[in-house]
Amino acid sequence: MLDDLVREGVGMTSRRTRERLIERLKVKGISNEDVLSVLAATPRHLFVDEALAHRAYEDTALPIGFKQTLSQPYTVARMTELLLTHCSRFETVFEIGTGSGYQTAVLAQLFKRVYTVERIAALQQKAKARLQGLGFYNIQYRHADGHLGWQSGGSFDAIMGTAAAADLPEQLPSQLKSQGVLILPVGDNTQNLTLIRRDGDTFSTAVVESANFVPLLKGIIA
Ligand code: SAH
Repeated sequence: MLDDLVREGVGMTSRRTRERLIERLKVKGISNEDVLSVLAATPRHLFVDEALAHRAYEDTALPIGFKQTLSQPYTVARMTELLLTHCSRFETVFEIGTGSGYQTAVLAQLFKRVYTVERIAALQQKAKARLQGLGFYNIQYRHADGHLGWQSGGSFDAIMGTAAAADLPEQLPSQLKSQGVLILPVGDNTQNLTLIRRDGDTFSTAVVESANFVPLLKGIIA
C-alpha cells in the first residue's frame, strides 16, 4: 500500500485512501448512504496514536491503550447502520464506551445530541479533547460505568454499546423512549449482537449476528 501512495504522491490519510475503505465497506454489505458518507468524512487517523495513523483506513481494529481497541470500521458502520435502520427519531443517542471517540464522532453527525460514558478517565479525557478540537459540541461526556445507564436518568431514541455485556444490563432498556432501539453485544465467550426495541411498555429482542467486542467491565478507573 505504501508503494501505491508514494506513486500517487499523496498522504496515507488522503481522500483516495478513505474512498478505498468506503468501497471495501460496500463490498462487505454496508449500503446506507448516510453511514457511508459519514465514515468517508470522519478522519479516523486522528483517533489513534500517530504511529498507527498509516493503518487508520485499513478495515481493522486498532489499539488505543489500556487494553482497549478502536473497533474495525466495518463494525462501526454495521452497528450504526443497524441503529439508523431500526430507529425512528434521531434526536438523542446514548453510547456506552467512548474509547477513542471515533464511534462518538460518527454518531454526532447523525443524531442531534450524543451522551457518552467511558469507565477509563484517561481515555475519556483524550477523546473529549479530540472531539472538541474537531468542532463537535453536541456531545455530553460522563466518566461512569455504563452498566448503570445514563445516571440520574435519561431517555433516548437510541442506545449503542461498544463493549460486550456478559448479561443485558437491566437499566438500559428502560432508558429507551418508545420506538427507541438499543444495540449491544451480549455474552462473554460467544457474543451476540442484540437489538432491543421498545414500544410503550413492550420490549422485543432480536439477535442480529455474532460479534467480537472487548468486554463491558464493572466499575470505573480514575
Ligand atoms: N467506541 C469506541 C470503542 C472502544 S472499545 C471507539 O470508537 O474507539 C470499548 C470501550 O468501552 C473501552 O474504551 C472501554 O474502556 C469501555 N468500557 C468498558 N466497560 C465499560 C463500562 N462498564 N462503562 C463504560 N465504558 C466501558
